[in-house]
Amino acid sequence: MTIRLLPEAVAARIAAGEVVERPASVVKELVENSLDANATRVTVETQEGGRALIRVRDNGNGIPSEEVDLAFRRHATSKLQTADDLEHIATLGFRGEALASIASVSRVTCVTRCAAEEIGTRVRIEGGDIVAHSAVGRPPGTEILIEDLFYNVPARRKFLRSERTERRHSDAFLTRYAIAYPDIAFYVAHDGREVLSTSGNGAAQEALLNVYGMELGSNLLEIPTELTQDRDIQVRGFVGPTTIHRADRGYITLFINGRWIQDLRLTYAIIQAYHTLLPVKRFPVAFVMVTIQPEEMDVNVHPAKTEVRFRDADAVFRAVQRAVRSTVMEEAPAAAVWQAPPAGTPSTTAPGTTRTRLSLLTPAARQLALSQPDVTSPEGQPAIFATTPLPASQTRQTATPQAAAGRQTLPPLRVIGQASTMFIIAEGPDGLYLIDQHAAHERILYEQMLSDWMQGQIPSQPLLEPQTVSLPMDEAASLEEILPTLQTLGLDVESFGPGTFLVRAVPAMMTTLALNELLADIAASPLDHSPIHTELEERIVRRICKRVAVKAGQVLSFEEMDRLIKDLERSANPRTCPHGRPTILQISIEQLARQFRREG
Ligand code: ADP
Ligand code: MG
Repeated sequence: MTIRLLPEAVAARIAAGEVVERPASVVKELVENSLDANATRVTVETQEGGRALIRVRDNGNGIPSEEVDLAFRRHATSKLQTADDLEHIATLGFRGEALASIASVSRVTCVTRCAAEEIGTRVRIEGGDIVAHSAVGRPPGTEILIEDLFYNVPARRKFLRSERTERRHSDAFLTRYAIAYPDIAFYVAHDGREVLSTSGNGAAQEALLNVYGMELGSNLLEIPTELTQDRDIQVRGFVGPTTIHRADRGYITLFINGRWIQDLRLTYAIIQAYHTLLPVKRFPVAFVMVTIQPEEMDVNVHPAKTEVRFRDADAVFRAVQRAVRSTVMEEAPAAAVWQAPPAGTPSTTAPGTTRTRLSLLTPAARQLALSQPDVTSPEGQPAIFATTPLPASQTRQTATPQAAAGRQTLPPLRVIGQASTMFIIAEGPDGLYLIDQHAAHERILYEQMLSDWMQGQIPSQPLLEPQTVSLPMDEAASLEEILPTLQTLGLDVESFGPGTFLVRAVPAMMTTLALNELLADIAASPLDHSPIHTELEERIVRRICKRVAVKAGQVLSFEEMDRLIKDLERSANPRTCPHGRPTILQISIEQLARQFRREG
């Protein structure tokens, strides 16, 4: 076969494949064009999930009559002129290929008028060819109608999913843009049924409720603008409190300079910001919008423009993580007791049969476990908990007394008693508190151990007699790899034949010697299974603390409960256990008064 240049129409169809993957890509490109044209009202209608029809209407700048035909040619754009312009793209479009691509795989009707002209233009394009062109009257703005998408690309048409799935893809895009662009009135209808309508009054809250529903939407915390307003990298948006979490990261949305993008690292920055505040394998809900200088990033990575590269990715990572973490830490209230527990919260450890009492801890372990004078004082916070505290003047002015009470620190509490050998009941200035003894103790031990580890000295206690532990082969193999790490954590373990280990010393705080279970626990955590990488040491420490902490079912003396509460008060993050479950619930006096109908 001889080499030949492809006919324009074939080349266009090949290129279209990258831009127009499915109806949602058409919706995306057309809406982006409307936003670029400064529209304040955008209407999207589809039929049959967008295969039969997609209509996007706006009240934007419109296209001058002599440019309409050109707009549908490849590499025709009004948004770029020189190669230099590529260095600082401030519009959503810039490649000049969306309209051409869409037109090459569908039947398009475009009616448009720019405000400066008296009369509008109507063109009809089929498979890339202009088949009709006329002048029409209409108000300024643009309406683009796409019919029979992929009518000439049977392969693509075959790969389209159900109407519902295609609608969902479009909605995923539209709902997010409705949140990110609260000044624009969006109206969306599928098969004549309205699915989204925002007023464009500038309040993102309205769109949030629309998109996330009442329960979730009204609980999201707004990232205070003061956090980043004077910086090069601005971070705005909404993040869930620690009581709200989801099974996957689908609820994390990232916008950069007004564009929805996918970015693994920044998604990870957000997940990291919730580190130890959410249960394991649970993900936050977050809608984070970053604004940076256009020249600091490159969106010309892929035709669909859903990825960007940053000049200084670390700086963006840090800015996002810091803003999210500050917002969450500032507003992590003790879970209100009358609220339904958040969906998906794992129940606390079932009442066990263990009857070990705290008083049975070795004196050294007791000392360590229960009296930590200053390791967790605010100044001495281990770096892992470090946040950027807001200067007092920048804390949120609107904070209600409850929100203020919800700061991470605990008020001084007085122990009243123990319930169900699981919970400590205490009283404080803001009412009654119920503390999960296991979760609270886990939190205390965890902070203490990590702090010791960071200072390079986890007190270790030699066993009078070394203990042997056997593990299944694959667990043994993964344990083998981390023996040096265990050593730094005060766990002196050495290999002792196939699948067998000899434990010579344990961290001094360890009281139970269920070493088999502990080592199996540690080994079973696949070391790089989770894409969320947390330091290996931290993970091991969490496991040790889980094993060592007092269990539900253990009777505690007043003195023990008192110590536990005092230690918890000193913790950097007293309100959640290292796995992110709440350690403490609060019932305010008002709530009690209301329940007893005392008010008024
Ligand atoms: P790009 O958006 O990358 O410039 P497109 O193919 O999407 O490329 O659009 C080509 C041009 O058509 C745009 O640059 C713009 O000038 C014009 N255009 C497209 N849609 C609209 C619209 N809704 N309102 C005004 N002008 C539009
Ligand atoms: Mg475009």
